[in-house]
Amino acid sequence: MKTADVVVIGAGVVGSSCALIMAEAGLKVIVVDRGPIAGGTTGAGEGNIMVSDKEIVPEIELAVRSRDAWFEIADRIGNNFELHAKGGIALSRTDVGMAGLRKLAAHQSAHGIETIEVDGARLRELEPHMNPEIETAIHYPGDGQCQPMLSAAYFLRTVRHLKGEVWQRTEVLGFSKDKDGAITGVRTAREEISTRYVVNATGTWAGDIARLAGSELSIMPRRGFILVTTPAPKLIHHKVYDADYVANVASDSPELQSSAVVEGTESGTILIGASRERIGFDSRMNMAALERLAKQAISVFPVLSKLELLRVYHGFRPYSPDHLPVIGEDANVKGLFHCAGHEGAGIGTAPGSGELLTAMILGKPTFMDATPFLPSRFQGVA
Ligand SMILES: Cc1cc2nc3c(=O)[nH]c(=O)nc-3n(C[C@H](O)[C@H](O)[C@H](O)COP(=O)(O)OP(=O)(O)OC[C@H]3O[C@@H](n4cnc5c(N)ncnc54)[C@H](O)[C@@H]3O)c2cc1C
Repeated sequence: MKTADVVVIGAGVVGSSCALIMAEAGLKVIVVDRGPIAGGTTGAGEGNIMVSDKEIVPEIELAVRSRDAWFEIADRIGNNFELHAKGGIALSRTDVGMAGLRKLAAHQSAHGIETIEVDGARLRELEPHMNPEIETAIHYPGDGQCQPMLSAAYFLRTVRHLKGEVWQRTEVLGFSKDKDGAITGVRTAREEISTRYVVNATGTWAGDIARLAGSELSIMPRRGFILVTTPAPKLIHHKVYDADYVANVASDSPELQSSAVVEGTESGTILIGASRERIGFDSRMNMAALERLAKQAISVFPVLSKLELLRVYHGFRPYSPDHLPVIGEDANVKGLFHCAGHEGAGIGTAPGSGELLTAMILGKPTFMDATPFLPSRFQGVA
């Protein structure tokens, strides 16, 4: 029988980050995914590594450490995934909106995030094509960007170099346990792997894996559409978003929410988001959402009305009941560690999540207090 120190289920950005950090710590890792690398939500992500939209202290701490960890990983394994410090701009056209942004920026500054209020003249230097009616905004130089699919692929290439294995197109079917209920193995469509530790990094499907192991975990899908324009010369230099975006991220409403989030990519295409809907795994097109996104984006960058759309796609953000990720050992199944439910921040916060989980498995101190992320906050102990 195959043996591993850790089996990571899920080859998205979260699973690949966990696998990389664990392999670098000397653990023998096998990653198992029923599809290809980045075939889940990771393949739909825009790749923002954002500190600017984080509001509460645990997610600020996780996001700031993760952002730094992204650049450290690139130094260690090479930057083959378009990582760069792009910077973000949060704007509002109302006094109330700007007051909210200033309050948030003051709170974030107190927790180590660089924030700079800019006037119209400076805004025009940063983004020459922005609507001239927008007169003030907050600039976040610390926001970054990567290409998420390339990131997962290169992380897993390094895992293979470190004697780990990546099993694609291999479904996890169940678990073996000892008489005390602790994990001893993972049954897959290929063969069983003997292991004491399992990382459940299956994003929106994390509840299914918890159930397979005899526990429960509430992770649900939140649909988002992205519009992609045809490639254009560099028109937009930062990630630019309307203040409503932060409110929408935190909102509990099941209704369609959208606010302009616009950014250019290395290849010249421009990505326009971000819609949020809680309607399960419904993959039908929502023209109303797409029209709203396009109108909102054009109101920030009128130049966009001259571009053609190349395509539209959607993905399902994995979210937990309190919108924080679930990172830590299952309350009912010893040896099963969850790392899922990162919602719209899974790309940005993947490396920090992997560091937390690796420390937990190795019994080492974590870089922050991980209590707010523990699965036991939702799980009744059986
Ligand atoms: C439109 C959109 C834009 C986004 N933009 C950003 C952004 O700019 N920045 C950001 O930080 N986040 C963004 N996100 C969120 C981000 O994409 C997710 O948080 C992140 O990709 C989740 O990664 P994951 O590895 O947890 O899950 P996934 O990428 O979904 O990976 C889970 C994997 O588990 C596998 N799996 C499931 N069940 C099994 C099984 N039984 N056996 C084997 N394998 C299994 C799946 O095949 C899948 O590959 C965006 C999301 C959407 C939808």
